[in-house]
Amino acid sequence: MSFLSKTLSRVKPSPTIAVSAKARDLKAAGRDVIGLGAGEPDFDTPQNIKDAAVAAIAAGKTKYTAPDGIIELKEAICAKFKRDNGLAYTPAQVSVGTGGKQILYNALMATLNPGDEVVIPAPYWVSYPDMVLLAGGEPVIAQASLQTGFKLTPDQLEEAITPKTKWLIFNSPSNPTGAGYSRAELKALTDVLMRHPHVWVMTDDMYEHLAYDDFEFCTPAQVEPALYERTLTCNGVSKAYAMTGWRIGYAAGPEVLIAAMRKIQSQSTSNPCTISQWAAVEALNGTQDFLAPNNVVFKRRRDLVVSMLSQIPDMICPVPDGAFYVYPSIAGMIGKTSPAGTLITDDEVFATALLEEVGVAVVFGAAFGLSPNFRISYATSDEALKEACTRIQRFCAGLR
Ligand code: GLU
Repeated sequence: MSFLSKTLSRVKPSPTIAVSAKARDLKAAGRDVIGLGAGEPDFDTPQNIKDAAVAAIAAGKTKYTAPDGIIELKEAICAKFKRDNGLAYTPAQVSVGTGGKQILYNALMATLNPGDEVVIPAPYWVSYPDMVLLAGGEPVIAQASLQTGFKLTPDQLEEAITPKTKWLIFNSPSNPTGAGYSRAELKALTDVLMRHPHVWVMTDDMYEHLAYDDFEFCTPAQVEPALYERTLTCNGVSKAYAMTGWRIGYAAGPEVLIAAMRKIQSQSTSNPCTISQWAAVEALNGTQDFLAPNNVVFKRRRDLVVSMLSQIPDMICPVPDGAFYVYPSIAGMIGKTSPAGTLITDDEVFATALLEEVGVAVVFGAAFGLSPNFRISYATSDEALKEACTRIQRFCAGLR
């Protein structure tokens, strides 16, 4: 319809949100559906954080704040970056937004001119390319594969960079694969960036605290301090603190970029929810004691899902380092027909058939730029995961 903008025609609705909505609708209609679509912890927000929000309401902290966050939260964010990442930032270098999404979007809006390129390693989180398109830039997909553990190699990064490249978007542990870059692997990438001084790095560290076994999280400006001046380090409270609905994301980087992001936010949404900001202060400054026990639960669930899916002939399910996703390959199932007679031509058909035939909602791999795969979010109860994996096993066993 010509009334709508040309920009809009370049983007698609978020598939992660679409799958979650579809699963919710089916459940509401009485269907027996297990939702493994949304990437959202099933844990409740810790009580001390909820209490801080209630206290904020009682104290009347319910009015506008500075557009990109209260000073108390910016100070808590600076302390977090120092404590966890050894990175020194001042509050003037910090921006707080309505979720990690707004932070990334503001940064792209603030920096991209038509034709500017953004290198995005695939598999990528569904919103990166579309955000780049919305901001008028060109996503350049650098394709990683199962063989490289879903990770970008230095050569691939080198190849993707052109004189028009403005950003590399980096995400580890990754949504959708859970793959994490070791310090040495990340250093090999930052070495490439050091040879291209016009390229900045936007690092999405949202899954920092969700790391298992001996995986050690690290972030670009920490691994290569010389990149500090051209790094936007993005993070948020959604995943580690089970605060998805509170919508608080944040970033730290050069003051000039932070000021530009503030300008955009001041003309669009103004400040993120005041009450959520006070809750986030408590999340970052308060006890971190629940992170380790939560990770024990996530790791147990990861191992359960990987072991059950690995029993399926023709399914390859790599063991992720972090986050709460697995990203199995179904290459061996393409061309087969499901028990209800669906020809599995690609991962989208596979995901739809899983939902319709056995009531398991997952997100198809094409949405993340690597097919044929699908993403499971295992941030749900062990019982639901066991039942879901049993249904997937049954569905796959019925393929002919
Ligand atoms: N990051 C989550 C996911 O991938 C939340 C949904 C979204 O915002 O895309 O499922």
